[in-house]
Amino acid sequence: MQLLSLTIDGFKSFANKTTIKFEEGMTGIVGPNGSGKSNIIEAIRWVMGEQSARHLRGDKMVDVIFNGAANRAPLNRALVSITFDNSDHYLASDFNELTITRKLFRNGDSEYLLNGNKVRLKDIVDLFIDSGLGRESFSIISQGRIEAIFNGKPEDRRAIIETVAGVAKYRKNKQTAERRLGQTMDNLNRVNDIISELA
Ligand code: ATP
Repeated sequence: MQLLSLTIDGFKSFANKTTIKFEEGMTGIVGPNGSGKSNIIEAIRWVMGEQSARHLRGDKMVDVIFNGAANRAPLNRALVSITFDNSDHYLASDFNELTITRKLFRNGDSEYLLNGNKVRLKDIVDLFIDSGLGRESFSIISQGRIEAIFNGKPEDRRAIIETVAGVAKYRKNKQTAERRLGQTMDNLNRVNDIISELA
């Protein structure tokens, strides 16, 4: 799997549609302070499903929409698309190429697309689960994250190790199973109550 391109349109400082193509090997992004380097990384996190505005240095999610500049009016929509070569099917999909798009409108409406088709956030999260990518992965380490890891509580560090080791998925599945089990027990208790009332 390889990252092929990223398109940013109306996201943070990118008022104009901008496409970055990633060639094989290493890509470096350089530029003066405040020119938008971190915004590119945040665009990648965002399109892969980031749900925390704080992780994107904002208060609310609509803060990611281009907010205007000296000679430019604010925009009403942010769009980011990311394209992967998936010919090795590293991501669990039959497609050889995958384009994920996320849109957010100023009224709060949002959309996720996978190869042009509308999907749910869950579909995007599931696509990246166990891939080492995705919104909670450690493939993207932002400024301050390393310090936060060192200063974090032991339980938080354990959660990180579980994520990296691929155990987190099983913990999540276990929680879902326990929740369902709890609901089934409640139903069973209700049925038993009804039976004893009828007896
Ligand atoms: P540094 O090298 O200092 O870390 P950088 O190149 O990583 O800087 P960014 O932090 O990515 O730069 O970009 C910051 C710029 O993005 C600021 O000028 C800020 O005003 C602009 N910016 C952030 N959000 C928005 C927004 N919603 N609309 C318009 N501009 C925005």
